[in-house]
Amino acid sequence: VGKTTSAYLMAKALMCRGQNPLGCDLSADPKDLCPSCQAIKQDGLDQQPDFLEVDAATLEHKAESAREIVEKMSSFPVLARRRVTVMDEAHFLSDEAWGAYLKILEESDTDSVFIFVSSAAGKIRKDIQSRCIRTSFERVADDVMIGHLANVANTNGIAYELDGLRLITRQARGIVRDAVQYLDTTAALGETVTIDTVKLAVDTSLEDLCENLLQTIAARKQVEAVALAEELVRKDMPGKAAERMLSLYSRAIYDKDPELRKIYLGLPDVSAVAGTLAKWAAIPSAPSDIITVIVYELLKTQNRILAHGGGGVKTLTPVVTSSKRASPLAAMLDDEAL
Ligand SMILES: [Zn+2]
Repeated sequence: VGKTTSAYLMAKALMCRGQNPLGCDLSADPKDLCPSCQAIKQDGLDQQPDFLEVDAATLEHKAESAREIVEKMSSFPVLARRRVTVMDEAHFLSDEAWGAYLKILEESDTDSVFIFVSSAAGKIRKDIQSRCIRTSFERVADDVMIGHLANVANTNGIAYELDGLRLITRQARGIVRDAVQYLDTTAALGETVTIDTVKLAVDTSLEDLCENLLQTIAARKQVEAVALAEELVRKDMPGKAAERMLSLYSRAIYDKDPELRKIYLGLPDVSAVAGTLAKWAAIPSAPSDIITVIVYELLKTQNRILAHGGGGVKTLTPVVTSSKRASPLAAMLDDEAL
């Protein structure tokens, strides 16, 4: 959390012509501000002529735009010390686009700075990464979040049970704004914030379903897993479901949530699960059958392990038959390997 906000603050500081390394204090009198900060105070950062913000996810003709952006950024700044571009969701840039940026990143005598913001930095080419200074951001830790929610609740006279706040924290996945909103929605019911009232106010069904699915796979109940996967597909939020599973995963592995750890350590290949989930969670509009693909990969790995351990089978049995069925997972189940 905080990537884009930090990028804005850094942009303001980099463009400032004053002496303060953080940029001028915007609460000061406008006549005491440098021209860049004055423009920011008056019309906002996005109107400052030397500042550019681009969302790579929605950018069309990425390579062409890259050349235009580089050309614009190569000219002298109008008001500021430097020109600054903030590129959001940078991992969506094409190879050709990166080629254009690489050139300007290699020039050391430029008045231009690029800030690439990404929630999947690992996907960015190594030759780009090695030319950048990298700063990592983390989710707000669960105990910090619970403390914050307790503070908000106490200040506003909201009665709560700690378990209720824990559930809100889980749902918010490190995003403070979401957590406070969930608390607000639950408190609006007029009752104590408990697990039950949170469930009433906040829809936890997607998370419950994701957790259930992983639990079922870990328990090797493959037929049930297929049914749950299909239910998830019907919910029509595949990207969101993948993201939820990734979030459960990171809580299990990094936060060492004991209940979730039991599930994840039972899965066939814990690190492969993370890789698969991360790949798809980064795409908000993932294809509708992505959950099918994830479950397929997990079941396939599980079968491979079972086949090896069970009968000393040396070659892999193909899991998907060629028969055309409505559901690819149902087709998988046709196979005797399952
Ligand atoms: Zn300034």
